[in-house]
Amino acid sequence: MTENRGIFTSEKLQNHLAEEPEMQVDALSDRIWTISDGVYRTIFLAGDNSVIAFDTFGTPGRARAYRAAIESTLPGKPISTVIYTHDHLDHAGFAADLAPDAEIVADEMNAKVIKLRQAEGQLPPTRTLSGHENAMSIDGLDFLLLNPGPTHGTGNLSAYFAEEKLLFSSDTILPNARYGLLPDYHLANFVKFMRGLLDLGFEAFVPGRYEVTDRARFEKGCDYIEAVQVASQEAFVEMVPIWVMDAMAGHVSAKLRERFGDLDGFEEHIGLTSIRIVHHYLMGGWGQEDTPTPALLLADAVD
Ligand SMILES: [Zn+2]
Repeated sequence: MTENRGIFTSEKLQNHLAEEPEMQVDALSDRIWTISDGVYRTIFLAGDNSVIAFDTFGTPGRARAYRAAIESTLPGKPISTVIYTHDHLDHAGFAADLAPDAEIVADEMNAKVIKLRQAEGQLPPTRTLSGHENAMSIDGLDFLLLNPGPTHGTGNLSAYFAEEKLLFSSDTILPNARYGLLPDYHLANFVKFMRGLLDLGFEAFVPGRYEVTDRARFEKGCDYIEAVQVASQEAFVEMVPIWVMDAMAGHVSAKLRERFGDLDGFEEHIGLTSIRIVHHYLMGGWGQEDTPTPALLLADAVD
């Protein structure tokens, strides 16, 4: 059998795509579960008659393992709806393997990227949302889907559950410092938009990777990115060679270790993260999403 391959071209990926890891499922309330493959994390919801699944995990095998875990947690309830948090294949690339007949909900900008990308296994959305806030009511479940503007990826939707005071925001703030290269983060407005979600009054925070955490760690995550942004800029003043990993790691970690050294992964990731961030300031941002008016992004460019 040949697996859906996203945009991979090498035949050598087949075993990687097929692997079905053990999944860890934990209840967050009587209607919300969180599931992880050991690194990636998402949530699914129990509706009256069906399941609403967020994202798909990042390979066909992981999507099948996700479906099997849902079936054993909520037997007899089919996955009627899949909600994409953003366009990235490592989170939302394999609905064809998770639930090929489900309604697929996504932000309109995300839908445009998916349509153009044509990745194998990434089903196009069947229902698109627009605007900053959508009140959803699906199969007896009420919750908010929020897109505060470009944060990470395209059309990133966060979910808020008022009854549980719970926020799920995939691939944005992490519960640690393991940001690596910060791929496809839109730094011009990232922290501002993420801090805006604090207005929701959530207490529990489910990130798109690693462990479930809380509001205080979310706030510390915002503080951390902001502090790396400031410390990275100062590399110019101190003549640090901004393309040298060890030099940037040494410069930024010395400034931030006291305040943020307790974040898991700080020492291993600070060099790469700060090289990525300092180039944002060197170049002025990457494209229209990194301007003060990102809402203009691709507004009418794709039907
Ligand atoms: Zn992502």
